[in-house]
Amino acid sequence: MKNIVIAIDGYSSCGKSTTAKAVAAELGYAYIDTGAMYRGVTLYLLEHNIDFEDLPRVEEALHQLHITFKRNRRTGRNELCLDGVIREDDIRQMRISNSVSEVSVIPAVRHAMVRQQQRMGRKRGVVMDGRDIGTTVFPDAEVKVFMTADVHTRAVRRQMELAVKGENVPLDDIIHNLQKRDHIDSTRAESPLRRAADAVLLDTSHITIDEQVDFVLERVSSVLVDALRVAEHG
Ligand code: C5P
Repeated sequence: MKNIVIAIDGYSSCGKSTTAKAVAAELGYAYIDTGAMYRGVTLYLLEHNIDFEDLPRVEEALHQLHITFKRNRRTGRNELCLDGVIREDDIRQMRISNSVSEVSVIPAVRHAMVRQQQRMGRKRGVVMDGRDIGTTVFPDAEVKVFMTADVHTRAVRRQMELAVKGENVPLDDIIHNLQKRDHIDSTRAESPLRRAADAVLLDTSHITIDEQVDFVLERVSSVLVDALRVAEHG
């Protein structure tokens, strides 16, 4: 069976990573959470007291930091490592969510992350979620999904995720953070968040996770069946 790239883009907290992870597990594909990579860069800059506007220092940091993923055998989750150390919990904190969009507008940061993401997916057989996968990282992805949901639904989901980790954040703060990130992500000059012309829209406001996963898997099957037909009949 042909190995393809599945690009899942969309607004913050629409369920992209939950969907992408389940689709990857179903297909035996690798899952790459590109948001985690931007969060990793943000954590590094904050921990090293590097001003986001100090471009020479940001560029130097990009040469020094190492972002990788390590599979947690117990949870089956791919966890983000910064310089070899798992930092999955740290990158999910609100202080990172509050700064990450300012870091991801920096062209040097985007170029470095996009290059690494393209390397990670070069053999295909990957599900990648983010903001610019279908437009910039893999414009030739065979399946492109653009996810959206109403902001209240997204904020409630995010609030529950944070609460499970012991961080209790008022709903209004989360709504404000999501709206701010969506705005910065959609209006930046370099690879802004937008739906690729050939991406299918998936509104997750009123559907379950299983339905989201089935939706993507159905797109995948139809692409694979078409590819098989072309291979057989030319
Ligand atoms: O997906 P997640 O919400 O963890 O992403 C965090 C932030 O990383 C986004 O708000 C966005 O600023 C940035 N990002 C990006 N491009 C991607 C993935 C994430 O700019 N491909």
